[in-house]
Amino acid sequence: FRERKLIVHIIPFENRRQILVTHDVTETERTEMMRRDFIANASHELRTPLTVIVGFLEIAASEDLDYATRMAHLKLMTEQGHRMQHLIEDMLTLSRLESVDHPMRPEPIDVRTLMERVLRDARALSAGKHQITLEVDGPDIRGSADELHSAFGNLASNAVRYTPTGGNIRLSWGASAKGGAKFVVEDTGIGIDPEHISRLTERFYRVDKSRSRETQGTGLGLAIVKHVLLRHGGSLSIKSEAGKGSSFTVCLPAGG
Ligand code: ADP
Repeated sequence: FRERKLIVHIIPFENRRQILVTHDVTETERTEMMRRDFIANASHELRTPLTVIVGFLEIAASEDLDYATRMAHLKLMTEQGHRMQHLIEDMLTLSRLESVDHPMRPEPIDVRTLMERVLRDARALSAGKHQITLEVDGPDIRGSADELHSAFGNLASNAVRYTPTGGNIRLSWGASAKGGAKFVVEDTGIGIDPEHISRLTERFYRVDKSRSRETQGTGLGLAIVKHVLLRHGGSLSIKSEAGKGSSFTVCLPAGG
């Protein structure tokens, strides 16, 4: 039972009778709170790299730096600039996914090509540090190839980013028990403690902020996955054990 907040208006009516009008504002307030949190988080995430960039620019303007130091500062500023770019791209993706003016237009998906793109991106990110395999043996579906690429790519890149060097990552596309398709990403990475699992798809929720940032994380990847799956009538289930690894399973309906 959740506490609800109602606004009650009592309007006088003829013959001393009154009309009672109630508005349930629980949901409105919750949405408003989420919006405020999102803006606060996003501003904080953007301010941090910007502070670094402005700091280095101020040094560059006031000090006569040698070539090597200048280059080191430029490298750090570029990294922070990329971090901001990444975050803005993820925020735009999320807002497009949530927009009612931007409906999903289902098209037949060439699953093998999509899976090979996801594998290629994951291998590029891993740069040879993990063994990454792919199996494709499942039905074709319909959906948005770009959105599914973004969702599956986020899951695969998380597996790479949260698995130490030498670990294994397995991507597989198969049939689901309900007659649809199933995409599974398994890793032998750092795993997740059970108390975090139900919150992972919230925007900016991270188990370890510094690890997420070190590996170019924005904290929005799983929120994007959740929204893409909502638009495709799919679902996500997460199994994990700290120190052992995780598996993320996406189920999609037959036909899409
Ligand atoms: P981030 O950009 O921080 O990776 P995500 O929304 O993609 O954001 O993921 C949210 C959090 O879930 C991560 O910060 C991390 O703590 C956890 N996480 C996601 N995938 C994995 C994984 N494969 N192994 C361990 N932890 C994970």
